[in-house]
Amino acid sequence: MTGAARNGTPHMTLCPERLKAVVFDYGNTIIPFGRPEIARLDAALTRGLARHYPTPDEARVAAIRDRNRMAPYAGDPPAYRENDLRDITMAMVRELYGRDPSEAELDHLLRVRHEAFLDVIDTPGYARGVLERLAARRPLALLSNYPNGAAIREGLERGGLADLFACVVVSGDLGYCKPHPITFTTVLDQLGVAPSEAVYVGDNWLADVQGAKRAGMAMIHTTQFAPAEPFAPQPGDLEPDAVIGHLREIAALLDS
Ligand SMILES: [Mg+2]
Repeated sequence: MTGAARNGTPHMTLCPERLKAVVFDYGNTIIPFGRPEIARLDAALTRGLARHYPTPDEARVAAIRDRNRMAPYAGDPPAYRENDLRDITMAMVRELYGRDPSEAELDHLLRVRHEAFLDVIDTPGYARGVLERLAARRPLALLSNYPNGAAIREGLERGGLADLFACVVVSGDLGYCKPHPITFTTVLDQLGVAPSEAVYVGDNWLADVQGAKRAGMAMIHTTQFAPAEPFAPQPGDLEPDAVIGHLREIAALLDS
């Protein structure tokens, strides 16, 4: 942990008057999506598997899921390719049971994953008010790493936030994850703004802070929720322009 922004003193280098759009991460930025939520997803998947096959060892399911979640960031240099949900679910059945799932079994397991994600989403009550106030001044967008774009969009609908975002870009729809530059250029193109005209708000040191800063955007790092995939700062890493401990703090940074 190095740099002023990492030990609690925000770098007050944001220039709100230059910012034309605000781009948000979703998990651990707007909604909590940490270890407890992931454990609930794993438990639902374990129950889904047990409908078709012998009940798997939960620790083995969790280990496969951890490996899947980190796969986009593996390799040197990492490819940042997003997982294909159908492929990784099929591979999970093969690894656990030594055989391929039927099409019907695979469809059911994908439905289980989709529904389990929606079940664990718990949109904080203050979120709509905070985002509504921001959206009155600048367009908002969402850029999320998740293999299932439809699940993110349904999550936004159910949480009552969908209408606040001018565009929603999800790694599962692009095939690439943050910090890959294509994720940031896609959302900036859809907003029709230059990188320097947009600020990104996110929790993850690699995907969000490094991704947005390398893309040339302003960056607000939120530490409100613990990231599920923690990446340690590396030599030469870029610092965020500000650090917040709660979503509510954004208004004061951008309205000044
Ligand atoms: Mg996040």
